[in-house]
Amino acid sequence: MSRDLTIAEVRLTPILVADPPLLNTQGVHQPYTPRLIIEVVTAGGVSGFGETYGDAKYLELAEPFAERLAGRQVNDLNGLFTVADAVAVDAARVENAVDVGGLRGVQTADKLRLSVVSGFEVACLDALGKALELPVHTLLGGKVRDAVEYSAYLFYKYAAHPAGVPSEPEDWGEAVDPAGIVAQARKFTERHGFTSFKLKGGVFPPDEEIAAIRALAEAFPGHPLRLDPNGAWSVPTSLKVAEEVGGILEYLEDPTLGTPGMAEVAGATGVPLATNMCVTTFAEIKEAFTRDAVQVVLSDHHYWGGLRNTQQLAAICRTFGVGVSMHSNTHLGISLAAMTHVAATVPNLHHACDSHYPWQSEDVLTERITFDGGKVTVTDTPGLGIEVDRDRLALLHRRWRDDDGTMRDRDDAAAMRVTQPGWTSPAMPRW
Ligand SMILES: [Mg+2]
Repeated sequence: MSRDLTIAEVRLTPILVADPPLLNTQGVHQPYTPRLIIEVVTAGGVSGFGETYGDAKYLELAEPFAERLAGRQVNDLNGLFTVADAVAVDAARVENAVDVGGLRGVQTADKLRLSVVSGFEVACLDALGKALELPVHTLLGGKVRDAVEYSAYLFYKYAAHPAGVPSEPEDWGEAVDPAGIVAQARKFTERHGFTSFKLKGGVFPPDEEIAAIRALAEAFPGHPLRLDPNGAWSVPTSLKVAEEVGGILEYLEDPTLGTPGMAEVAGATGVPLATNMCVTTFAEIKEAFTRDAVQVVLSDHHYWGGLRNTQQLAAICRTFGVGVSMHSNTHLGISLAAMTHVAATVPNLHHACDSHYPWQSEDVLTERITFDGGKVTVTDTPGLGIEVDRDRLALLHRRWRDDDGTMRDRDDAAAMRVTQPGWTSPAMPRW
């Protein structure tokens, strides 16, 4: 292995990974969800891995992007943004599209580019770290903590996918009421030691979700609780929920859509508001922060443009006295490792991060990452500190290749139509 850091090859591997029937305000997760695994190989023979969204529009951009990387240096991280800017994006197509019913916030050509850049940035950092024999957190300036805390991500869910569509078996069971949510929370604590809980709401009428939060508070007294309806509520409904359970919430996440509505809710209640919907780009920060619309930003290195952009976001939050934590979409161990490395370097990360990882029974790593007491230990192994199982990767890629196209783009509303014909993404606010 030499230290020649020239990028010799880039490999893109779209995969489909098993996903349980988790509910949100748009519908239900499909049996399989797309992800893109990115491998950067240096002339010195070092491979680095990254991961990002795998829907068609991300793949369409990743391919010409990858073609432009050969011959560049793996340590030229700033250059990745220049390369991305040179790749054409059909802006009209992106901006008119509704991505997973709006769960991923505003859609712009720049955000699409950043979502792709992030996967390459992580792959380059992994390769660079391996070549230099340094962990990624060291490349980011060094860790300020030895373990990163994650929260249990509770979901209303069906026992199995509608219509018996095959997927990987799982033993989480059904959760459609307060008792089911509390039982799920207990499983999370038993299996992973989590001490804080986030409930994905916006699924049932607010009173039912208020009851679930109360049941959690009773079952886990004093533990941090969050509720995230993905903007499904009007301002008056948000205020009513805040009045009823605000006192037992660590924060309320995206109760209503848009910065003006969030500002109205924030101004009328003392409950901190968190977001991964109204602040998902640097352009959205100014209005939200000057109107005091959000008190915690949930960063996501995938759409913010990578680990170093996440650090920049955290610095802006610190400047404005806004808290920072981490959002999660369905992801695998490569991204969990990346999240953990950057979270380890952010001094003002004072809330447990979200992660879907416990829901993913499949991974592309030789060894799964484990939570101990709800925390992931920050590894000092070079790069991300993970190893990819190529056989596993090939298997999940074959599933993607053999798919008839129904699951290559995540569509929670389509999955819902299997049980509820005629279901479409609900108009917001639902309540
Ligand atoms: Mg959210």
